[in-house]
Amino acid sequence: MSKIVLASNNNHKIKEFTKILNQEDFHLIPQGQLNISEVEETGLTFIENAILKARNAANIAKMPSISDDSGIEVDALSGRPGIYSARYAGEECDDKKNNQLLLKELKNVPFEKRTARYHCAIVFMPTHDHPDPKIYKGTWEGIIGLKETGENGFGYDPLFFLPDRKCTSAELSEELKNEISHRGKALKLFEKDFLEIIKNSQYF
Ligand code: IMP
Repeated sequence: MSKIVLASNNNHKIKEFTKILNQEDFHLIPQGQLNISEVEETGLTFIENAILKARNAANIAKMPSISDDSGIEVDALSGRPGIYSARYAGEECDDKKNNQLLLKELKNVPFEKRTARYHCAIVFMPTHDHPDPKIYKGTWEGIIGLKETGENGFGYDPLFFLPDRKCTSAELSEELKNEISHRGKALKLFEKDFLEIIKNSQYF
């Protein structure tokens, strides 16, 4: 059976990727199972950070790897927190603190100017030194709400208002969110390519 290492310890991501990759005689191994720790995210873009994560996992595991990096870009904050979304309120922060800081920073910004988008970059890396890793991207547009609403999802979801659905992404079911989200879109592009990649690849 062919193996791919997943450069993530996030259970939500492990579940999503497993659904797609544990087929066609492929076995997805989360990097934690191989004692691979998270690499420092020193890139300046989602793609750079996704490449760093995938390269680290492929290098240590000596097998093809897959990774993702994501975050939220807020227009009124000139794109912040962007790649720093997970640690927006500081190294010791959590989702609650990040959302509180976002509300504080946008305090005087009217609803129509609170436009934002989630980004997701997925990278498939056949070997750690491969010159042409495969990159897939997805975005999801929304507006940062005036207060937190909804219990589902994680991160900025209680503040991510979807004008066309008149609710936040924390009010969507997991299935619907996965269908329309930034990560869902990038994963769909990857899934489409995956069978072709394995048919033509000498790396497995
Ligand atoms: P990553 O694990 O390095 O990709 O960090 C992603 C960070 O961006 C998370 O910790 C969240 O703060 C934020 N984020 C990314 N995707 C989502 C999402 O689907 N919902 C809510 N927050 C998200």
